[in-house]
Amino acid sequence: MLAQLKGLFSNDIGIDLGTANSLVYVRDRGIVLHEPSVVAIQAGTTNVLAVGEEAKRMLGRTPGNIVAIRPMKDGVIADFEITEAMLRHFIQKVHNRKLIAPRVVVAVPSGITEVEKRAVKDSATHAGAREVYLIEQPMASAIGVGLPVHEPAGNMIVDIGGGTCEIAIISLAGIVFSRSLRVGGDEFDETIIAHMKRAYNLMIGERTAEEIKIRCGSAYPLEQELSMEVKGRDLSAGLPKTLTVRSEEIREALKEPLASILESIRITLERCPPELSADLVDRGIVIAGGGALLRGIDRLVAEETGLPVHIAENPLTAVAEGTGRVLQELQFLKRVAYSR
Ligand code: ADP
Ligand code: MG
Repeated sequence: MLAQLKGLFSNDIGIDLGTANSLVYVRDRGIVLHEPSVVAIQAGTTNVLAVGEEAKRMLGRTPGNIVAIRPMKDGVIADFEITEAMLRHFIQKVHNRKLIAPRVVVAVPSGITEVEKRAVKDSATHAGAREVYLIEQPMASAIGVGLPVHEPAGNMIVDIGGGTCEIAIISLAGIVFSRSLRVGGDEFDETIIAHMKRAYNLMIGERTAEEIKIRCGSAYPLEQELSMEVKGRDLSAGLPKTLTVRSEEIREALKEPLASILESIRITLERCPPELSADLVDRGIVIAGGGALLRGIDRLVAEETGLPVHIAENPLTAVAEGTGRVLQELQFLKRVAYSR
């Protein structure tokens, strides 16, 4: 009863500001919004026409005077105004008719600068937040997948998103060491585009490349290899063409971006204090983010590191779940949020 009453007046919000997808978690309700981090604007201006799903639908279907932008694409804020518009849209979409302004937790890429953090905080405040806390995405991700981050023991999370891969070792609710590299699902798509061009002289779009990755991509040999039909434009004849691709060749194409991720994991392990390294031998590594869904990524990482590897149960929602969990416990939130 009391909780219901409280809910009428205020709804605290957790936001995963992802490079590809943004999610909003409302306290006591769970994840209420999961939309692409895309903003459509009028070309040459900062007039925002649409945000999220609606903006993504406009992609490729608009006259030349509308452009769709992914303001977080590289894990840094490319355009403050556009990021602010996106954040405001997400907050206002879930926060209406409430009497008390919400407390907002925003999970941001660990690589962003002080100026960018300030911009995110100000944007959330402008959008109606009463208090704003920032938390690093790998921390939120680790909490979201249920790692015991409070304990004085090493926990390792690898979050492979669209634009970035965030790797962190966490102990006693703090990040002991982290790396953020600008390699993720987008890069996988790009290498597939390059492969199709090089091998078949076939031009394919980003959406087709992503579809190939999801339906046919892998990081480790499959028990049953896959194949699929791909449509594109033949670069020499200029005409539409259909051909069949095999999972083996796609895996070969993905080797390079995967090698960068493996190298960063190795460097992180090398920098890890010995006591925590010892913990990881038992606890292993958890992989989250959309990239965790690439077939066989767990086996590849396990083979390269010799450590046990687990895929998060819900890799796409881990960060948002993590923001939700810290909202329940203000003391915890204050410990894991960036110190100001
Ligand atoms: P971010 O946190 O950066 O917004 P997400 O964690 O939402 O990113 O992951 C988005 C990425 O995951 C995209 O590159 C998308 O193509 C990729 N992805 C989603 N599903 C799969 C899948 N089944 N296999 C491989 N990659 C996937
Ligand atoms: Mg993410």
